[in-house]
Amino acid sequence: EEMTSSDYYFESYAHFGIHEEMLKDEVRTRTYMEAIVSNAHLFKNKVVLDVGCGTGILSMFAVRAGAKEVYAVEMSSIADYARKIFKENNMDSSITLFQGKMEEVQLPSKVDIIISEWMGYFLFYESMMDSLLFARDQWLAPGGLIFPDVCNLYLCAIEDAQYRSEKIDFWDNVYGFRMGCIKDVALLEPLVDFVPSAQVCSNPQAVLSVNLYEMQKHQAAFSVPFELEVFRNDYVHAIVAYFDVQFTHCLRPVGFETGPFARGTHWKQTVFYLDESLAMAQGDKLRGSLACRPNKKNPRDLDIAIDYSMEGEHMQVSSCMRYRLR
Ligand code: SAH
Repeated sequence: EEMTSSDYYFESYAHFGIHEEMLKDEVRTRTYMEAIVSNAHLFKNKVVLDVGCGTGILSMFAVRAGAKEVYAVEMSSIADYARKIFKENNMDSSITLFQGKMEEVQLPSKVDIIISEWMGYFLFYESMMDSLLFARDQWLAPGGLIFPDVCNLYLCAIEDAQYRSEKIDFWDNVYGFRMGCIKDVALLEPLVDFVPSAQVCSNPQAVLSVNLYEMQKHQAAFSVPFELEVFRNDYVHAIVAYFDVQFTHCLRPVGFETGPFARGTHWKQTVFYLDESLAMAQGDKLRGSLACRPNKKNPRDLDIAIDYSMEGEHMQVSSCMRYRLR
């Protein structure tokens, strides 16, 4: 039988290694723990749905916070371990594991709270948000809560001469040979990596705010304008995207950020190299638009377009970049 892209997606979550990486991402996991366990007044005696429970960590936080019942849904075979983990922690009477796709499982009842860690690189990669929205529409009782409920996407401009030359210009001269065709595709691939904060040379701009109570599935395709003002004279080589995550119903605001100035997470940042290096003077503005939509053939991949223009003191340029996050 042939594997579909969906099978490959869930296969990638079958091994414990990927879950180890997420659990050891303390910014991520501790923030969820704080949001859930420190808000027992919200969880006490509630029915909770964990969308994509993985090892079951969030479900167990919910029990610790006093939830009456937790439905833990997981498609990948990591579910077999989650079931054992709930037993190991004597929580198998309050947590019920449903192995299957969120879109297909039949739950015993509606739920008061949905908890989920669905965010991908560049926030939207992997399209797991669709499954969360499905769960909301199908299973969340009126007035129910979503943890987390707000995410914002940010852009900023960076200087990145050294890495650009190692990753992109490298292909101009490989032991004296030209491999320009690879340079062309290398430019199309956003790079997921940590950006040192010293390389940031513009203000960050929030370009998109996602409210999970209101978000609709089709809004995962979007186009938004940006205007990045550089605060020093420098060369700009790339635009960086990152996001934050908020749990706005907590008694005290809880959340985390994945930007260059924050403590590192496994999401790192997403770097989009421009086709040329921009000489920018302090106060110059890099304007444009960022558009994103799921790829037609493989909807878990993202087609991302950045159109930009700069009318600066030293340079006037405009260009259209097309990227594929895969
Ligand atoms: N909640 C865990 C795992 C997060 S990773 C934690 O915080 O550590 C996301 C998990 O969701 C993966 O294990 C993946 O297999 C699962 N998943 C993604 N989409 C799903 C869907 N539509 N139905 C069921 N499980 C899904």
